[in-house]
Amino acid sequence: MFDGLLGQDFIKMTLAEAAGSGRAGHAYVFCGPDGIGRRSFAKEFARAVMCTGAEGGAVPCGNCPSCRLLASGTNPDLKLIRGDESRATVGVETVRQLEEDIATAPTVSARKVYIIERSEKLTVQAQNALLKTIEEPPSYVMLILICSNPSLLIDTVRSRVTRLDFARYSNEEVLKAYRDAAEEGAPELSAEDGELVTSYADGIIGRGLQFRDFGFYGALRERIFDTLLLLKEGRSAFFAGFTELFTSKDNAADREYMFFELTSAVRDAMVYARTNDAGTLQNRQFRDKIEELAEIAGRHGWEKALDAVSGAYQLTGQNVNYRMIIVNLAAQIIDAVQGDSGRLK
Ligand SMILES: [Zn+2]
Repeated sequence: MFDGLLGQDFIKMTLAEAAGSGRAGHAYVFCGPDGIGRRSFAKEFARAVMCTGAEGGAVPCGNCPSCRLLASGTNPDLKLIRGDESRATVGVETVRQLEEDIATAPTVSARKVYIIERSEKLTVQAQNALLKTIEEPPSYVMLILICSNPSLLIDTVRSRVTRLDFARYSNEEVLKAYRDAAEEGAPELSAEDGELVTSYADGIIGRGLQFRDFGFYGALRERIFDTLLLLKEGRSAFFAGFTELFTSKDNAADREYMFFELTSAVRDAMVYARTNDAGTLQNRQFRDKIEELAEIAGRHGWEKALDAVSGAYQLTGQNVNYRMIIVNLAAQIIDAVQGDSGRLK
């Protein structure tokens, strides 16, 4: 069980024990950040409790109808509930549908498992509706709530589910996962690129894996530096270039990454303005550009700009219009640099 899934030893132990003893609970909440592996673990746990093979439980047999249908992705007894991605909340109607479905016994498997994605998006009303199922579930039912922010679950739900918290991975584990996922014959990861993968991943394997295409990311990184250098051409050039880069459809898809790179670039400008030392730069390959940035404004200007970037980044996680955030940020960076150098056109 859990072959091919790295780390999370405590969770593996807890779930294997529950599945093996045949006394797995009816409702779990898997907590942790996106990309940490909650879905993969939920599916593997489901496979174990759904198996009807002789061994049952701890080690799914791989041969029974339930295991086979899961392998082909067509087992009707495993339901993934995603809600509508484009909507901020998941409403009570989704839970009502789930309740209707729960009333019928499993078709081929020992249990029926419902994996509810982004459960923090369930409205209070939806959670109250779900509560009934959590309190008095048919014996064959198991619910697994995937959750990034358990504080958004109501107390009565939280107190009736078994909560498992996923731990962040070490840098070594992130790199191992990255190497394991690399295609046959892919070039070795350089130490510099490895550092980039681990600092972006921040202990989350799924984020580290986003760095598949170094050519693409390298080009984007350079564009961010070039965009900051537009400050030399004056306010309007920078404003236009910056908003274009951060709101264009191609790049806006990966906001996390864009902000990560922007933070790193502005940080380097600040460090270089302060120390004149390239040794501690994160983007040593762009040393020339960083030198140029440090000529536009001093450490105080870049420090202010860095504050503005981190403030804007925090807003992206809230319900604020993204374009507005970017427009404001562009203006704040101009102010920060202007206040320091007084030289912007
Ligand atoms: Zn089986």
